[in-house]
Amino acid sequence: ISFRERLHSVMHYAKELFAQQLWENKEGRAIGYSYLRERGLTDEIIKTFELGYSLDKWEAFYNSAKKVDFTTPEMEGAGLVIVKEDGKKIFDRFRARVMFPVHDLSGKVIAFGARTLSNNKKEAKYLNSPETEIYHKSRVLYGIYQAKDRIRKEDNCYLVEGYTDVISMHMAGVENVVASSGTSLTEDQIRLIKRFTNNITVLYDGDAAGVKASLRGISMILAGGLDVQAVAFPEGEDPDSYIRKIGPNAFGEYLKDHQTDFISFITEVLLADVGDDPLKKTKAAREILEAVAQIPDAIKRDVYLKASAQKLGIAEEALQQELQGIFEEQQ
Ligand code: ATP
Ligand code: MN
Ligand code: MN
Ligand code: MN
Repeated sequence: ISFRERLHSVMHYAKELFAQQLWENKEGRAIGYSYLRERGLTDEIIKTFELGYSLDKWEAFYNSAKKVDFTTPEMEGAGLVIVKEDGKKIFDRFRARVMFPVHDLSGKVIAFGARTLSNNKKEAKYLNSPETEIYHKSRVLYGIYQAKDRIRKEDNCYLVEGYTDVISMHMAGVENVVASSGTSLTEDQIRLIKRFTNNITVLYDGDAAGVKASLRGISMILAGGLDVQAVAFPEGEDPDSYIRKIGPNAFGEYLKDHQTDFISFITEVLLADVGDDPLKKTKAAREILEAVAQIPDAIKRDVYLKASAQKLGIAEEALQQELQGIFEEQQ
């Protein structure tokens, strides 16, 4: 069988081992499982997402996998071990972390996201698999396997930032949700969603990074020809923290009440600190037009241009002229 197939099989083995360690190993249960339960995850959801735990040892995975005849190149090729000093030093990439398997559309595990449980700020909170022969992070969305049927049924896909946002929303009954998991949204990821729906609702964190990422995400989605809406969260909240704060029912209501078209969302975000400053307002208008300019469909573009004019209190003709300017710059 091919090397690729061996990579799939070592990833499958790793997923099973990490899960077994979470449920049955003394350390995994005391540290990993307790952590997830304290975050409010149920046994059922832990199983649905096949979460696991990697032991606090340098060679726990390596030794187990070797015993069942996986080779070092296979383990390294899957990104599960790191090889140094020409093969003299081999150690596990993931240690003492809660493991979030990343599935492809068919449910095969192709990567892991791994969360540290230590409060040591020097350690990265999340560690992800490297690019491998079977994992190209720009083409994958976390949760797509668990979400795809519901995305099709609801004809909408919620897009969040993090692993735990996806999982908490599932627990709150909102299952049409995927995460870009720390990478900025790519064209391939948008194409992946487009196989199931033309509608995306962006739910990024209520912090500066989240707002910035959502503006960029919205532009990308528009450029892909999809329709996009957004929901803003209060400062410092992400979908996961907000569900825990207000409860699943109120969260569902919040989504319904705060879902707005992208123009309203961007205007609100950009105009928040504009006040009466004409320069700032000009800059905001320009940024909104940059997003509108991404829309491939001319009629849709015109509809959104009218909406922007109204929101901004700027004459449509002026915006139209500016939009022309943006098009000419792009050529
Ligand atoms: P948690 O709720 O577990 O604290 P989060 O998902 O809210 O985590 P954020 O800091 O909001 O974490 O980051 C959003 C996402 O970005 C994460 O879920 C993860 O996929 C990715 N990410 C965050 N920090 C890192 C990192 N140091 N390296 C790689 N990816 C990261
Ligand atoms: Mn954040
Ligand atoms: Mn977050
Ligand atoms: Mn969070």
